[in-house]
Amino acid sequence: MPKELSSPYEVHNGFKISWDYHQMVARAIKAGYNRSQGEKMIAIDIHDTLGDYILAMCQRYGPPKQWPGDGHNTLDRMWPSVDMRAHFTPDNHGAFLSTVPVFLDAPNSVWRLRQMGFEFCYFTATPPMYRAAVTDWIGINLFPPAELRMADGWDNKGEALKKMEDITMLIDDSPATLLAAVDLGITVYVYDRPWNRDVTVGTRVVGWHHLLWQLGRDFLS
Ligand SMILES: [Mg+2]
Repeated sequence: MPKELSSPYEVHNGFKISWDYHQMVARAIKAGYNRSQGEKMIAIDIHDTLGDYILAMCQRYGPPKQWPGDGHNTLDRMWPSVDMRAHFTPDNHGAFLSTVPVFLDAPNSVWRLRQMGFEFCYFTATPPMYRAAVTDWIGINLFPPAELRMADGWDNKGEALKKMEDITMLIDDSPATLLAAVDLGITVYVYDRPWNRDVTVGTRVVGWHHLLWQLGRDFLS
């Protein structure tokens, strides 16, 4: 059973998030524009942070047999009857990536992040051979253009972060990546998903409005 959320910003409290969010963003844009340029470089995960990879899996293969308890490297346990090698063949996976539904509050929020003065890059575990597919997805879903960094595999994001000295913050859903980032002294925001409820490091956020509200409070107020 997932743990209860400790945040006051439960999903049912969306109106309060929305109201606080609009006020905070207006204040932050007025007071904080460009203030943090060059100081706070945020790595933004893509799958299950900007778009719902798992929902795309459900749409393609049906509901999972079980939810993972320890991160993302468990797709084969969630869909044991699916041939994951076939799923990850270049032709299939490239096309599959285009079907990942965007989280509706994400694109405008990432634009807001830029207006608030934060620098960011997109940071995905998806291998470089899918650069065109991921770049298309970013553009089609109307996210702001920014550098796309590809770590080449879920297990490699921690190692990749080690080599990126400019990253000071990470927003991600993957427990392994979040824990690796904390070890590197990176400030982490846990994008709430059912499989990361055991993660106790960093700050948990429920959706993008909550994240922006939190960033404004942490860095611009
Ligand atoms: Mg992810």
